Amino acid sequence: MLNRRQTLRGAAALAGLVASAGAAAKDRCVAFTPTMQQAKSPQEALQRLKDGNARFVAGQALHCDLLEQVRSTATQQAPFAAVLGCIDSRVPPELVFDQNIGDMFVARVAGNIASPDIVGSLEFATALAGAKLIVVLGHSECGAVKGAIDDAKLGSLTGVLQQIRPSLKALDYKGVPSSKDKALVQRVAEQNAKDAAAHLSGRSETLAGLVREGKLKIVYAMHDVATGKVSWFG
Ligand SMILES: [Zn+2]
Repeated sequence: MLNRRQTLRGAAALAGLVASAGAAAKDRCVAFTPTMQQAKSPQEALQRLKDGNARFVAGQALHCDLLEQVRSTATQQAPFAAVLGCIDSRVPPELVFDQNIGDMFVARVAGNIASPDIVGSLEFATALAGAKLIVVLGHSECGAVKGAIDDAKLGSLTGVLQQIRPSLKALDYKGVPSSKDKALVQRVAEQNAKDAAAHLSGRSETLAGLVREGKLKIVYAMHDVATGKVSWFG
């Protein structure tokens, strides 16, 4: 049995822990300034997103005051990371990584492909605006990947899907590919995210140069739409 003094001491320690967790959460809600951005290494930027996804999956998202962030970013932005993600409604990067206004540049296109407009956007995000990390975020159950596997044709979407097809061909796959094969859909989605990450530096001397200088890290990751968890690669 705890005596009254031990109980009080325990309660005080708990209150201290809650207060410091609250202070840490409040710190995390401060919108990035150029000074904060420059102080972050690519590795620290990656860790910040890993921590954010862990909070999201644990149901402990920060719930920052977004209007306060709007006010503090009104005259400048200094995001620490950029994400290239799919348009899928289940994979909003800011929510999945528990980040807020002014934290990340986000480029979204069906199948998270590194098309020329996307490459140019990410050159802006990094070389001009200072982000230290690019994450290509693929995901499970991707409709664009399924369409590419089935070689679907529809208007301008056809051209988008054709940019995913090489990732299917890169796999050692026997038989007629079908989007009904769930394991294949996942494998192609992973390969496609990996290929898009490689294309970013392969198609941009600007991005490749930043990586060489240690000023930028490019990784790919997969989001599981059933759990919200992000798995990291590269
Ligand atoms: Zn998708």
